[in-house]
Amino acid sequence: MARPAKNQRELREALRAAGLRATIPRVRVLSALGSATTPLSHGEIADGLAEEGFDRATVYRNLIDLTDAGLVRRSDHGDHVWRFELASGDNHEHDESHAHFVCASCGAVECLPTESVTLSPGRGAPRALKGSDLEIQVRGLCDSCA
Ligand SMILES: [Zn+2]
Ligand SMILES: [Zn+2]
Repeated sequence: MARPAKNQRELREALRAAGLRATIPRVRVLSALGSATTPLSHGEIADGLAEEGFDRATVYRNLIDLTDAGLVRRSDHGDHVWRFELASGDNHEHDESHAHFVCASCGAVECLPTESVTLSPGRGAPRALKGSDLEIQVRGLCDSCA
């Protein structure tokens, strides 16, 4: 399920605003992440862009550039595979603080709406819980495995 991607001009502007040159591979990688509804692995993104002639190393290098620039968020959901998604987006499920659901059986990863999992660090909670650089994961069985 894809949602309408930002147009190329908006993506180039986002790259320049982050201090990156707006190269074609970067625009294409951002566009692929912007139209995805789940975090994607490097392999999934590279497969999707292979027919446009970008090799895996190019895709990887640009993913890292985009992550370092803060446009893309990278997370490991317990299977030692980095998955990438836009750091922020028009859809609320891509708010920075959203949690992820990970299927304990098939490993599928889904973005959860922000309001479905929220932290309310009480008195005495570790300071980390009040930070913004958190990775919240919920594990269970996805709809197809349940
Ligand atoms: Zn599953
Ligand atoms: Zn997500």
